[in-house]
Amino acid sequence: MLEIDGSQGEGGGQILRSSLGLSMVTGKPFRISKIRAGREKPGLLRQHLTAVNAAVAVCGADAAGAAIGSRELTFIPGKVKGGEYSFAVGTAGSTTLVLQAILPGLLVADAPSLITLEGGTHNPFAPPVDFLGQAFLPILGKMGAKVAIALERAGFYPAGGGRFVASIEPASRLTPLALRERGAIVSRVCKAVVAGLPGEIAMRELEILSRKTAWGEECFRPVQLSADQGPGNVVTIALASEHVTEVFTGFGTRGIRAEAVAEEALGQARDYLAADVPLGTHLADQLLIPFALAGGGSFVTQSLTPHTVTNIDVVRKFLEVQVKTSDLGKGRWVVEFGNTD
Ligand code: ATP
Repeated sequence: MLEIDGSQGEGGGQILRSSLGLSMVTGKPFRISKIRAGREKPGLLRQHLTAVNAAVAVCGADAAGAAIGSRELTFIPGKVKGGEYSFAVGTAGSTTLVLQAILPGLLVADAPSLITLEGGTHNPFAPPVDFLGQAFLPILGKMGAKVAIALERAGFYPAGGGRFVASIEPASRLTPLALRERGAIVSRVCKAVVAGLPGEIAMRELEILSRKTAWGEECFRPVQLSADQGPGNVVTIALASEHVTEVFTGFGTRGIRAEAVAEEALGQARDYLAADVPLGTHLADQLLIPFALAGGGSFVTQSLTPHTVTNIDVVRKFLEVQVKTSDLGKGRWVVEFGNTD
């Protein structure tokens, strides 16, 4: 039984989600203690509990300690079974993070899966559905796993009520990739989405992006969703380059000016472009597990976050894979994966 310290490094929910995914793939049981000890409200919140229950359902695991607020969990996985599943977070908690926890197992399952998820689809501190669809999943596709998602309803904090469906065609083996260059930019799309809020908010957000970037008119798209999906507002900037697409997000929050929401997304996009790397910090973080499962390949990214460093430690606990990180200077890092045998 692997012992995982949930307070290591960042001490957040990622340690649990990565452990669940890797345990499903490897069949290795684990016990995690001090779950989310580094967070203001430690222990399992609804999102994390839904992820545990989803993992239990998908691989017929035995789990002890799966309850709200629990700081310790024992997870003994069974065989992953592809198929149709539905999971509801029950609050506005992130659905994409629930998918993140079970995806490694489903990627190498013996059958395709259709997963319906209900809850938040555009949450701060989580990948928005747009990021998964445009940035993360196309790279998994290049590695041989075809995953498609369809957003049926957006769900924002605090109302939730969003829904999306993920269809997963597993790969018997993920193909290693070398993502070392971004290549030339081929398109830039800035979307300002509002639901149940005045359309003027989206216009103000796009206006400031237009002023600060001087990108062509065709780059700016306001999106008004039906009021019953709100209230909510996000700004996404999708930068498609020859080898990769990145998506940067600003989340509208009560008390934060529309201009600041747009500037948040733009600041991230500018840092990424200045670093001249293919992968931004979140994409690098989320590709760690697929690259580690492929057992080879490498990517270049921005300076490694404490979140990513912690995630690498969890990967090393479960997999016999070498993960080597090197500073290339000027805020660029390379992460290389290799088999130890
Ligand atoms: P918890 O809050 O549950 O304790 P955590 O602290 O591990 O979890 P975060 O560090 O906030 O959670 O990260 C959660 C995940 O969401 C990571 O995979 C991170 O890469 C991703 N993520 C956060 N923000 C974004 C974003 N704007 N775009 C894409 N991915 C994001």
